[in-house]
Amino acid sequence: MMLKTTSEIDIVKANSSKINEVDFENLTFGNVFTDHMLVCDFKEGKWEKPVIKPYEPFLIDPSAKVFHYGQAIFEGMKAYKDENDDVWLFRPDENLDRFNKSAVRMAMPEIPEEIFIGGLKTIVDMERSWVRKGLGNTLYIRPFMIAVGSGVIAQPSSQYRFMIILSPARSYYSGEVKVIIAEHYSRAANGGIGAAKAAGNYSAQFYPQKLAQEKGFQQIIWTDDATHTKLEEAGTMNVFFRFNDTIYTAPTSERILDGVTRKSLIAIAKRDGIKVEERSVLVSELIAGAKDGSLKEIFGAGTAAVVSPIVGFQYQEDYYELPKIENSLAIQLKDKLTKVQYKLAEDTFGWTV
Ligand code: PMP
Repeated sequence: MMLKTTSEIDIVKANSSKINEVDFENLTFGNVFTDHMLVCDFKEGKWEKPVIKPYEPFLIDPSAKVFHYGQAIFEGMKAYKDENDDVWLFRPDENLDRFNKSAVRMAMPEIPEEIFIGGLKTIVDMERSWVRKGLGNTLYIRPFMIAVGSGVIAQPSSQYRFMIILSPARSYYSGEVKVIIAEHYSRAANGGIGAAKAAGNYSAQFYPQKLAQEKGFQQIIWTDDATHTKLEEAGTMNVFFRFNDTIYTAPTSERILDGVTRKSLIAIAKRDGIKVEERSVLVSELIAGAKDGSLKEIFGAGTAAVVSPIVGFQYQEDYYELPKIENSLAIQLKDKLTKVQYKLAEDTFGWTV
C-alpha cells in the first residue's frame, strides 16, 4: 500500500483494483463498490483528518448508538462522465447543505465543506475509471454519517463517523410504475424528521411499501399525515402532477425532502416557459382530473431515476389509468436535465462541478 499525505486528506491506495472483475453491463443498483472509501471521524468535539483507504468492513462497538437509536443520515448523488472523459458532480453544494440540515435535526455534528466537497472531489477523481462514458452510466455516491460512540444510554453520541462510498450504476427501465395513494400510513409528520435524509425515514417505509407491492403497486404516493388529503411524495421521490399544461408539485415543508432533482426540474421548467406551481395537490383534484381528462401526467423525481413516469394510481377501491401521452413534459424535462448532467447541453445555471 502506498501512503500519500496531502494537507487535507491522507490517502492509502489499494494494492490492486477490482475493476476488471466488474460486469458493467449487468449492474444491480448499489451492489458493487469501488476500490476506496473515505472515512472521517468526529471525536472530542472536532473532525479529525479524513482518510481515503481501501474499501473494507470495519469494527464498531455493539453498543454504538447507531444500532440502538438510529442516529444515521445519508446523501445520494451521482458523478457523470462527458464525451471528453471529464467527470462531473451535479450541484454537490445542495447535498452538503441538505446533509448538514439532516445532521442538525438528528443532533449530529455538521460536516465542514472542505471535508464533504473536498473529500468528494478527491475520491471521485481517484475512482474516475469507475465512471463509464455514455448516457445512463453514472457513479452513485453515498456520503453518510453514523453515531459510533458506545453506550446504550438514550442520548446523542459524542463520536461519529462520516464516510463516502461509491457504486457504479446504470439507469434501467423499471417497467410500468403504478402507485397507490396512502390512506393510513405516513412517511412524515409535522415536527418529525421527514425533511431529513435520516435512515429511519427509509426503514419506516419498508412495511407499507411491502403491503403496496403485495397488491401489485410499485410505489406509494404519500399523503399528509394529518388529513391524508394532500399529495406529498412518491416513494423515495418528489412527485409532480401535470394538469393540462401546468405542472404542480408540493411545496417543501417539514414533511417533504427538499430534492435536488425537484428544484432543478422546476428551474428548467421556469427557464423554458413551462408553467410550474409549487402548491399542494389534493387527492380529490387528482381524481377529478383523471375523470375529466385534465390530469395528463404524474411523475416522480429523484437522483436515482431522474424522472419516473407513473401510469396510473389506486385510491380506495378504484384504479385510475392515465392516458397515453405524446410530448410528455416529464420526458422533455428529464432529457434537458440529463443533458446538463452529461455536459451535452449548456449548463446555463452553473450546476456542474
Ligand atoms: N424524496 C425522498 C424521500 C428521497 O429519499 C429522495 C432521494 N434523495 C428524493 C425525494 C429526491 O431527492 P433528490 O432529487 O435530491 O435525489
